[in-house]
Amino acid sequence: MPDQDVRHCAGVKANGAPCGCEPSLLIVDDETPDTWWCFNHHPAYEEARDAARSKGGFRKAAKFQRFRFLDKAELIELRTPADAQRQAAAVFAAVATGRLSSAAGSVALRALDAFTKACEQTELLTRLDELERQVARTVNITKGGAR
Ligand SMILES: [Zn+2]
Repeated sequence: MPDQDVRHCAGVKANGAPCGCEPSLLIVDDETPDTWWCFNHHPAYEEARDAARSKGGFRKAAKFQRFRFLDKAELIELRTPADAQRQAAAVFAAVATGRLSSAAGSVALRALDAFTKACEQTELLTRLDELERQVARTVNITKGGAR
């Protein structure tokens, strides 16, 4: 039985083999949920692909790519700086492959950076709190022990 969590492109290659596109690059099919496609196979992007292939296609293809973002399923629930690091890696891959615009990518990376800094600050404050409590305890013990 195939692992339900591992997405794969529903398309097939010219030789009939299943498309082995990287799961993080897949785009969900809005009409049939749970069906995923890569950019090359997604039925909704046929027009964009034609535009990309035609003369002067880059400009036309760019028009279709202007508002492409990551899917909700690609968003990691941020709890720790490690989560932010994993999400940043996914954003980097998406920008590098042209799946995400560099503008959207840099906004996302800035937000992840802010999240990481906030985590670090929260952690520092927690540790400072703990240190203060330890110092207060030590001072109390010292006072008590002197008598
Ligand atoms: Zn594919």
